[in-house]
Amino acid sequence: ESNARSNWHLYSADAPERYELQKRVDWKARIKDALDDGRLLLHYQPILDVSGNCISHYESLVRMVDERGELVPPGMFIQIAEKTGLIHEIDRYVVNMAVAALDSFRRQGRDITLSVNLSAKAIANSDFVATIEGLVKAYNIDRSHLIFELTETSAVEDIVTAAEVIGRCCKLGYKFALDDFGVGFASWFYLRRLPVDYVKIDGSFVRHLAKNFEDRLFVKAINDVAQGLGKKTIAEFVEDEIALELLTKFGVDYAQGYFIGKPQPSLLPSDQKLAGIAPAEVMTELNTQ
Ligand code: C2E
Ligand code: MG
Ligand code: MG
Ligand code: MG
Repeated sequence: ESNARSNWHLYSADAPERYELQKRVDWKARIKDALDDGRLLLHYQPILDVSGNCISHYESLVRMVDERGELVPPGMFIQIAEKTGLIHEIDRYVVNMAVAALDSFRRQGRDITLSVNLSAKAIANSDFVATIEGLVKAYNIDRSHLIFELTETSAVEDIVTAAEVIGRCCKLGYKFALDDFGVGFASWFYLRRLPVDYVKIDGSFVRHLAKNFEDRLFVKAINDVAQGLGKKTIAEFVEDEIALELLTKFGVDYAQGYFIGKPQPSLLPSDQKLAGIAPAEVMTELNTQ
């Protein structure tokens, strides 16, 4: 009986590998379908300029809309996309959406800057600059309104190429952020070698800042070195008021996290205050889709 056979496979020694493989095959098809059907969208999370007490920019975060219309977070599919090569299509799709969103902000007279997460492989691609430039010119976007966020894993395979591409983009007016700083194996090496504008202190150091003395040491040290190198610092996962107060005391430039604002499908409407914070810059509702 075929049922018995598949049950046997389920419990055989190589089941975990089979399961992983099957899962990857399934997700690959789901990601492909989502790309084909245009079922990817962006959410936006505000980033607070700490000393100015206003929104500096928004991070765009991708979500997949599944077959039943439910949102799937990137943690479910970005890694599989990276392993199966579909990440190139996701990167292109996401950058397209971000540039189109910037175009709609601009046409409404709004001066919005967006950061976009890219896989490591994106900037290793020789036509990355040409692709971005093509889009930016087609939509007539101000390059300074785009920040690219890179994580260590992505940037790294070829540090020389990465540094060269980033340098070329910086001359054109784009900005870069080193994401999830401090949790990779080579964070300091990348910081030394890549000409980025921003360092995003990983949320795991920030989340328990009020309770954890070691985390405060790490955040202060990362902040001091990054600023000493002329970078702006952004703390992720700011979840409570005490954390924001400590970060302010440490002189961290920007703060991002649930205490300030959650990722949302549209920018903050004008009548909505930043989560824990006093009135900030007035925003008007905007739907980018
Ligand atoms: P990331 O770039 O470090 O983004 C921050 C993640 O932390 C987001 O999760 C955000 O929703 C979440 N977050 C923000 N504030 C808080 C907080 O106060 N507390 C906690 N616990 N979490 C917070 P999300 O949207 O699920 O994204 C996860 C990761 O997926 C991102 O990490 C990024 O590496 C990747 N990603 C997201 N969008 C894209 C994309 O368009 N392209 C690529 N290649 N990767 C993406
Ligand atoms: Mg990011
Ligand atoms: Mg991050
Ligand atoms: Mg992170």
